[in-house]
Amino acid sequence: MKSRSTRSGGGSQARQAPRAPGGAAEEPIARLAPQVVPRIAVLGAGGFIGSHLVPALLARPGAGAIDAVDMCLDKLDTRSPLVRRIEARLDAPGLLDDLTARCEVIISLTALCNPALYNTRPLDVIDANYTDLVPLVKLCASRGKRLIHLSTCEVYGRMALDSAGHAMTHMDEDETSLCLGPVHKERWSYAAAKQLLERVIWAHGQHAGLQFTLVRPFNVIGPRMDFIPGVDGEGIPRVLASFVHALLTGDDLILVDGGKQRRSFLCVDEFVDALVRIVDRPLACQGQILNLGNPQNDVTIRTLGRALIAAYRARRPDGPPPRMRPVAASKYYGVGYDDSIVRIPSIAKAERLLDWHPRVRLPAMLPRIIDDYITRYEPLLAALPTGKAVGVGGASR
Ligand code: UDP
Repeated sequence: MKSRSTRSGGGSQARQAPRAPGGAAEEPIARLAPQVVPRIAVLGAGGFIGSHLVPALLARPGAGAIDAVDMCLDKLDTRSPLVRRIEARLDAPGLLDDLTARCEVIISLTALCNPALYNTRPLDVIDANYTDLVPLVKLCASRGKRLIHLSTCEVYGRMALDSAGHAMTHMDEDETSLCLGPVHKERWSYAAAKQLLERVIWAHGQHAGLQFTLVRPFNVIGPRMDFIPGVDGEGIPRVLASFVHALLTGDDLILVDGGKQRRSFLCVDEFVDALVRIVDRPLACQGQILNLGNPQNDVTIRTLGRALIAAYRARRPDGPPPRMRPVAASKYYGVGYDDSIVRIPSIAKAERLLDWHPRVRLPAMLPRIIDDYITRYEPLLAALPTGKAVGVGGASR
C-alpha cells in the first residue's frame, strides 16, 4: 500500500543517558534538561501518522529541522522551510547512510501495516517490517543516533496472557506474553516481523549502545488514514477506511465474523502528541517500550460501524440507510487470516513517563474524520467509471 521511509534519532547527548533495560530506573520528568533541538528524520512522513506527526513536531517552540522521507509526500501538507522533503524508497542507495549521518533522531514509521496483506503478501510484509529496517538499526547503533521505532500492538497477538498463561484484561509492555498463532496462520507474519525487529532493537540497546524507544500503537484513527479502494489504493483497507468507503459508495459495511471483535481506538492527534513527548524526553524514554492507545475507547467493530453510520448520516441524511453485513473472515481475507478478539492497552507507563492522558472519546472523533473523507473522496469516487468504486466489501475477498 503505502510508504516506506527512514528515520533516525538521539545523538551523542542521548548516548550518555542511563539505560533502562526492562523498564527500570526511569528518569524523573522534572529532571529532564531542556532540549537542544536535534535534526530529526521522519521515515514514512507521507503516510497517515507521518502527515500528522511532522506538523506536530514543527509546532513545538523552537522546532528544529526535519528530513521528511517517503516514496510519496502528497499527504504531507507543509511547506515549512524547516522541512526537507525527500521522496525516495528506504533502500535508495546511500539514503539511510546520509540520514543517519545528518540527523540525530530517527523516527521510523515505514511499514506495510494492512491486515489484508499479512496472509496474501507475507514476503513483502516481512521485508518491509523487518528486513529493510535492520540496516537502519545497525546504522543508528554504530553512529550513536537515537531511534524511535513504531512497532505495533499486533505483537501481543491473539489475546493477553501473563507468563503463566492466565488471561489479562490489559496488554502490558513488560508483563504480557506475545501470543501469535501457528505459522500457517499467515496473519501473524506482520506481528512476527515486528516482534523480531523489536528484539533486534532491544539487543542493540543492550549490547551495542543503541539509544531507542519502541512504540506500540493501538488502533490509531483520524483523517488521512489508509486508502480508499479505486482512488488511492487497491484491496481491503483498515477497518475505518473500509467502512467509510462503504458509506461513500452505498455498499454494505462488512462485519468480519459478525464484528464481535474489539479494538481500542485512539485519536491521531493524541497519538502524535505522545510521539512528540517521546522525542522531547529522551532520558525518560530511553530503552523503553510504550503502548500508546486509549483503553476507554474499547468497542466492538459492530459498535464502530454503528457510530460511523450515525456520523455519516448526520452529514448526508438523504441517502439510503447504510447497512451492515456479516462475512466470514476466510471469505473476506482468505486462508491464513486470524484475528485478535480483544485488544486493550495498559497505558500506565506512557501516562507516567510522558504525562500523557488521552481523553478524546470515539464519538467525538468521527465527525471530523467523516468530513475529511467526504471532502477529499466524494468527488473522486463520483468521477470514477461506473462500477470501479464499489465491490470492495464483496464476497470475493
Ligand atoms: N474488519 C471488519 N470489516 C472490515 C475491515 C476490518 O470487520 O471491512 C475487522 C477486522 O477483521 C478486525 C478489525 O475489523 O477484526 C480491525 O481491523 P483493522 O483492519 O483495522 O486491523 P487490526 O486492528 O486487526 O490490525
